[in-house]
Amino acid sequence: MRVLGARLVLAISADLREKEDDMLTKGALLWEPGTNSGWSVEEIEVDPPKFGEATVKLAASGICHSDDHLDTGDIPLDWAPILGGHEGAGVVTEVGEGVLDLEVGDHVVCSFLPSCGKCRMCVAGQSNMCVLGAGVLAGTSPDGTHRVHARGKGVGCMSYLGTFSPYVTVPTDALVRIEKDIPLKTAALIGCGVPTGWGSAAYAAEIELNETVVVIGTGGVGMNAIQGARHRGAKNIIACDTNPYKRDIAPTFGATHTAESIEAAAELVAGFTDGQGADRVILTVGVLTGDLLEPAQAMCRRGGTVVVTSAAPVLQRDVNIDLFTFAMSGKRLQGTLYGSTKARNDIPLIADLYRRGLHKLDELITREYDLEDINTAFKDMRDGKNIRGVVVYE
Ligand SMILES: [Zn+2]
Ligand SMILES: [Zn+2]
Repeated sequence: MRVLGARLVLAISADLREKEDDMLTKGALLWEPGTNSGWSVEEIEVDPPKFGEATVKLAASGICHSDDHLDTGDIPLDWAPILGGHEGAGVVTEVGEGVLDLEVGDHVVCSFLPSCGKCRMCVAGQSNMCVLGAGVLAGTSPDGTHRVHARGKGVGCMSYLGTFSPYVTVPTDALVRIEKDIPLKTAALIGCGVPTGWGSAAYAAEIELNETVVVIGTGGVGMNAIQGARHRGAKNIIACDTNPYKRDIAPTFGATHTAESIEAAAELVAGFTDGQGADRVILTVGVLTGDLLEPAQAMCRRGGTVVVTSAAPVLQRDVNIDLFTFAMSGKRLQGTLYGSTKARNDIPLIADLYRRGLHKLDELITREYDLEDINTAFKDMRDGKNIRGVVVYE
């Protein structure tokens, strides 16, 4: 079975292969993470799949803040090099031994967090906190070895994936099959930013009908929180962003109002709620800092919920919050990982919402890039030009 798969890959991509066991392709690496040195696009070797793994030919990879955090050092790494990228979708070209749930030709979304289906959190219905997630920045595959090599060195992959390469060999625990009518370029987004934002509103915030919801930071994650709030039947959805471009398009995703600052959002909220405060406030800014929690909780009503979705710099410890008011008004501060979604349930679910016109994905893609232009893609993200940039492989 495996040999047959390998032959198929050889036939499909003979030009990319030097010999059967190491596929020559290209990838975007950081050799000095945390130094803002940018991504080096160079030749890499990708191994064939081992037990429980599959090789996927990707159609596209999303450009997400989390990879930029590796370059800036907001997420520090003590190893290198790393092949970036953790939002991808493509077609399975080879499966390793022991893979019973996927076959060559299947369309899959790469999930930035794997779910093993067996650990305590998985069986408890919280697969976003699967035990395998602890290793996504460890620098090796779950078995402690490397699937990617460059300049004679083992390369670690972001989230076990490394989607800044047209081919990935990954654990099938991180692959979710989708129907073949969903365009793969669009589907690439459903592996990280889309469920993270959508679930922040649809699940973590526990929005109820006719509520007032504020989404602070409306980029590739926040625009999906807006859509999740709409699905939940929120009445007022306030998109708060300093970027006028993002405010302009937020209503197309379901925002009913926009605000250029947190103060302006708080004023709108006070008007809508007779001074009582928003039911839910969702923080989806690009980089979270501790000073944002106080204004977020201050505009939240008694018994309301503040959802913290954004990644903060790993060393961020100082938080400014009015603890007396927070406790005495029974508010809830809710952290969320992956929008509290379950990848195997929610990736196909969001794909279905998209198919039925109930979740906008194509509109999230502002610009497309070649892999060679990945540093421009990250610059455009930092400059606020994109809701989502996407590297397209074909
Ligand atoms: Zn991401
Ligand atoms: Zn698990």
